[in-house]
Amino acid sequence: MLTADIRQRWLTFFENRGHTVVPSASLVSEDPTLLFTVAGMVPFIPYMSGLVPAPFKRATSVQKCIRTLDIEEVGKTTRHGTFFQMNGNFSFGDYFKEQAIEFAWELLTTSEADGGLGFEPKDLWVTVYEDDDEAIAFWKKTAGLPDHKIQRLGKDSNYWSTGQPGPAGPCSEIFYDRGPAYGKDGGPAADEDRYIEIWNLVFMQYLITNVTSKYHFDVVGELPRKNIDTGMGLERVAFIKQDVENLYEIDQVRPVLDLASALSGRRYGAVHDDDVRMRVVADHVRSALMLMSDGVTPSNEGRGYVLRRLLRRTVRSMRLLGVDRTTFPELFPASRDAMKAAYPELEADYERISRTAYAEEEAFLRTLTGGTSILDLAVSKTKAEKSVSLAGDTAFALHDTYGFPIDLTVEIAEEAGLTVDREAFERLMTEQKQRAKADAKTKKLGANDLSAFAEFRAEGETVFTGYTELETDSRVL
Ligand code: ATP
Ligand code: MG
Ligand code: MG
Ligand code: MG
Repeated sequence: MLTADIRQRWLTFFENRGHTVVPSASLVSEDPTLLFTVAGMVPFIPYMSGLVPAPFKRATSVQKCIRTLDIEEVGKTTRHGTFFQMNGNFSFGDYFKEQAIEFAWELLTTSEADGGLGFEPKDLWVTVYEDDDEAIAFWKKTAGLPDHKIQRLGKDSNYWSTGQPGPAGPCSEIFYDRGPAYGKDGGPAADEDRYIEIWNLVFMQYLITNVTSKYHFDVVGELPRKNIDTGMGLERVAFIKQDVENLYEIDQVRPVLDLASALSGRRYGAVHDDDVRMRVVADHVRSALMLMSDGVTPSNEGRGYVLRRLLRRTVRSMRLLGVDRTTFPELFPASRDAMKAAYPELEADYERISRTAYAEEEAFLRTLTGGTSILDLAVSKTKAEKSVSLAGDTAFALHDTYGFPIDLTVEIAEEAGLTVDREAFERLMTEQKQRAKADAKTKKLGANDLSAFAEFRAEGETVFTGYTELETDSRVL
């Protein structure tokens, strides 16, 4: 089943059940407290909170998402993309828990021939919030799941709240069992690699107050209008249905991975570290392409910084695969071609997007060349002084002035038989961050000053974050 097919099955299923099909919003969220759209519900926040009357009672979408918090996971786990698409169905004060569970079970287990996703009931497990007996009863009634396949978990994994007074509620998540070859028995509570989380159902049910943390608050009572917010990972379902090992091997991603392999002459599947690098390249090229398509350009702060980081990590990964020359003119068209059926604007806009990407690659390769010669000098000096550790302030200066990533400094130093004084480096980084923070506080908040927003958000001073924390990460690599 191609990714496009799964997407269409989803939309048709919910459209046939009274949901208005809403096109994906931009990755650049309209909510100024969010760097990016991190979940399907983000564009619907005003309807969920009741601030704006919903124009429809039921909606469905396939939302483009970016989660920079997952960058470090990319390529190492089987299931995290920086960019991914979240299928969602939403109810604004209309149907609730029972029907949401019924819809989910029906779509998952209806045969492919009848328009469903064709999962075998025996492969599915669910988790519920530990006190949500209602959800357990509905799962038993709808799906006939035995007790041991409905696992009760605590607030940290199965409760949704914004960390602010307002709506909140339990979640129930659906997992696919890949079988004993992928890990130990015991359900999703025991092993998240074997049991893949595919779908999260959020039951926005309570009004909370006295919030002291995301998981400590008092429940005031039931919401007058309860909402349903669900999110299914399109790529996760695709990798399961396409019977491949991970989400970097699906039809929308794999061509770039193969190209990274061809360009480097390294076979995918031969060496673990190389495999991770190829997956990082495939993910980051796609994520950067989608970000640029939504108008983000590389810069040193906010969204542009995230894009720059993705592009540089791509260059860096190709370099670790042994390729020093430019590769974007090959990698990006491959990603465009894999994605253009779902996003035709990629083709129309490609001239603009590619100009930005290619220029960034060339600039970073120049940085690497410049930084490398300075580093070579520092290495000789360190050796002449009979030291085995490269000074932290050298690593910091390379990072600060040349955007030279620390892991690259470490790697080159190691090749020369040296270590790097990481402690001193981290201390200088922390000091610099504190200076920037103090700076941001004295600065007047401009609407476009996202780095300042991130600072404030990091201290919990702004309101809504949707599903996950705001992406405050500001490292280049
Ligand atoms: P995980 O625990 O695997 O990190 P999550 O609990 O953070 O996922 P949710 O916030 O519940 O994810 O998002 C809803 C769904 O979106 C998930 O069930 C999953 O299918 C999908 N999803 C979440 N993060 C990613 C990602 N980085 N890449 C691909 N799909 C994702
Ligand atoms: Mg996650
Ligand atoms: Mg999870
Ligand atoms: Mg989840």
